[in-house]
Amino acid sequence: MDDSKIPYKIYLEENELPTSWYNMRADMKNKPAPLLNPGTLQPLKAEELAPIFCEELVKQELDDTTAFIEIPEEIRKFYKMYRPSPVVRARFLEKALGTPAKIYYKFEGNNTSGSHKLNSAIAQAYYAKKQGLKGVTTETGAGQWGTALSMACSFFDLDCKVYMVKVSYEQKPFRREVMRTYGASVTPSPSTETEVGKKILEAHPGTTGSLGCAISEAVEVATKNEGYRYVLGSVLNQVLLHQSVIGLEAKAALDKYDITPDIIIGCAGGGSNLGGLIAPFMGEKLRGEKDYRIIAVEPASCPSFTRGKFAYDFCDTGMICPLAKMYTLGSGFIPSANHAGGLRFHGMSSALSQLYHDGYMEARSVEQTSVFEAAEFFARTEGTLPAPESAHAIRAAIDEAIKCKETGEEKTILFGLTGTGYFDLVAYEKFHDGVMSDYIPTDADLQVGFDGIPKFPGNMD
Ligand SMILES: *Cc1c(COP(=O)(O)O)cnc(C)c1O
Repeated sequence: MDDSKIPYKIYLEENELPTSWYNMRADMKNKPAPLLNPGTLQPLKAEELAPIFCEELVKQELDDTTAFIEIPEEIRKFYKMYRPSPVVRARFLEKALGTPAKIYYKFEGNNTSGSHKLNSAIAQAYYAKKQGLKGVTTETGAGQWGTALSMACSFFDLDCKVYMVKVSYEQKPFRREVMRTYGASVTPSPSTETEVGKKILEAHPGTTGSLGCAISEAVEVATKNEGYRYVLGSVLNQVLLHQSVIGLEAKAALDKYDITPDIIIGCAGGGSNLGGLIAPFMGEKLRGEKDYRIIAVEPASCPSFTRGKFAYDFCDTGMICPLAKMYTLGSGFIPSANHAGGLRFHGMSSALSQLYHDGYMEARSVEQTSVFEAAEFFARTEGTLPAPESAHAIRAAIDEAIKCKETGEEKTILFGLTGTGYFDLVAYEKFHDGVMSDYIPTDADLQVGFDGIPKFPGNMD
């Protein structure tokens, strides 16, 4: 197609919103390894997961075969408040880089919670309500997931208890207030409200917390209170399923103009936005219909894909959650205080881990200051203030576009702009003041985390 006919923003109509989510696992030959019961090391059955998670979500979690799962009408109605989200052609960025590459991004920051997380939050709240629960518990790091879940719970009139990593609770009081505005209760983690929180505080006095700690607390509270279940904003299969709405929309928008990306890039914390963005493209790749280069981008300070082990590990620090097979830095790994809170999880989605292990995607890590350079360049050219997490994808997209400039290749790049950075201005301030550091863990640092990975025959080989 004549390039000048392609709009700056490609919108879908409301009635083009996907009617089903796409479950990549259905097309995977090597399925992601099942969650294991840490006591028996046997695959967890639905009955065992039911005390922790909502029934319908357990079904979705365990379903490796149904390719399309219908999006309930009430969820579609909610989606219509902020979806379909646009695919934007980054023409000003291209021009500033002087690259022949064509750069597109799918923008998910267009809702008050400021990120893609609302796509799964509303689904999880819906199923909790449908089951007749009183409320849900969860953890939040930087606060995007907690905010998204608070919004979703207020929509369905559910109680929402958020355990927020202490360092973020203190550094991001504004996020906390947004959550409280939507009616959630927010507790800094580790707290003395839970047994596991007390234990963690005894072992690590003065700790500023981690996602792994907060998960342990939220799970404990969910299992000890009647009518409550725990919900998680990333990593799980069900979350990637809900996030497939990102990729389905992106593909439908690009298809309208016969645009085929050569390279698809996403930042990777637990893998949900990346898994969602790539879903329909990966489906084609898995079925042998088309090929795409897919790149996961993670912080050099929390490098699960690029330096982690592919092994069964706990998802939480308190070691009360099921074991998941994934690229992991060990559940005891606490990353240095980098500013991309949403990318600080020690593990990675099992499905993406399997795909990476099988060579279907690449991964790279990037350092914090180079991420903020990219973020600032993007803000100055495209106007949108990106979340630091999203800026990891921007960094890689810019790097690929610069390569195209060197080789003269007109590649088409699609990346996920997962959110906005209005609550991350302390990080931007550090960057502008030149006091941002690039801490990269040494092999010895990582070994401490690896030593905590459970040892049993067949694990870690
Ligand atoms: C949480 C978050 C991420 C990372 O989480 P994934 O599950 O890997 O997608 C990325 N960007 C933003 C803006 C986030 O809030």
